[in-house]
Amino acid sequence: MRNLSVVVPCYNEQEAIPLFYQEITLVLKKMNCDYQILFVNDGSKDQSLQAMEALAGKAPNVKYLSFSRNFGKEAAMLAGMQHATGDLVVIMDVDLQDPPALLPEMIKAIENEGYDSVATRRVSRTGEPPLRSLFARIFYKIINKLSDAEIVDGARDYRMMTRQMMQSILELNEYHRFSKGIFGWVGYETKWLAYENIKRVVGETKWSFWKLLKYALEGIIAFTTIPLRIASFFGIAFSGFAFLLLVLIVVRRLIFGDAVAGWASTMCVIILVSGLQMIFLGIMGEYLARTYMETKARPKYFIKKKNI
Ligand code: UDP
Ligand code: MG
Repeated sequence: MRNLSVVVPCYNEQEAIPLFYQEITLVLKKMNCDYQILFVNDGSKDQSLQAMEALAGKAPNVKYLSFSRNFGKEAAMLAGMQHATGDLVVIMDVDLQDPPALLPEMIKAIENEGYDSVATRRVSRTGEPPLRSLFARIFYKIINKLSDAEIVDGARDYRMMTRQMMQSILELNEYHRFSKGIFGWVGYETKWLAYENIKRVVGETKWSFWKLLKYALEGIIAFTTIPLRIASFFGIAFSGFAFLLLVLIVVRRLIFGDAVAGWASTMCVIILVSGLQMIFLGIMGEYLARTYMETKARPKYFIKKKNI
């Protein structure tokens, strides 16, 4: 009999956990498969761990891992996948924004249609601040232009995959993980399901605007080194331009014998060019910082308590 692991990252979700469990078991029980629900407590400051322990006390197929502090959703998903025992693994948010009703369709696509994974994307962003949607759209445009991994606009982390594909994902051992890119990068056949955005049942989103911006930069830097190359292009263009200007000035001096002029324009050029230099120094710094963190090879999380 097939065996499904449901990986659920949770951060301050004490109210959502029992609701999620109720909903998902309704669906899973109808599905005629063995399952394991694996909650990952990502250093919650509320009673999330107690909520997990209470469920685990009642149902033997509820497992939990509890981190020593908040390591972020990426770390929580990684830990969940590393501890999942099923032949199929699905990652779900606990706030019921990832509808459990799609699970039977997902299993069918993998088992009968031969897909390796089934991913989901939101076709609408209703209920989201308009500015946030706008920035999200710009982000997907940029990252898809720059990187070779396909990153789908509106893609959620809600995804079911075979153990084989999950093993490949786990082989990507980087410290700065950007799952939306990693899923696409490893390849395999993926079926996409689309659905309308659903509001979370309780609690509120853990993503502030700044956290999202940081996440977006993380994604771009993790999946492309093109920004580093832009510096070379600018360097070449500016040098070429400077050379032409030099020729022009020498010729003008020889033919017309102009006196010194154009202090203001000289300053503008100097400021512009040094500004650009700073920007590219910054970009190099971003990559260097990542390289530094990667070479330290620190653990991506610590587990303080678990029932596995
Ligand atoms: N989450 C997590 N660690 C974090 C932030 C979020 O494990 O540091 C979990 C959270 O509990 C939820 C999921 O990741 O199950 C998605 O979070 P959220 O609903 O806040 O994101 P959104 O749906 O708004 O993108
Ligand atoms: Mg959510």
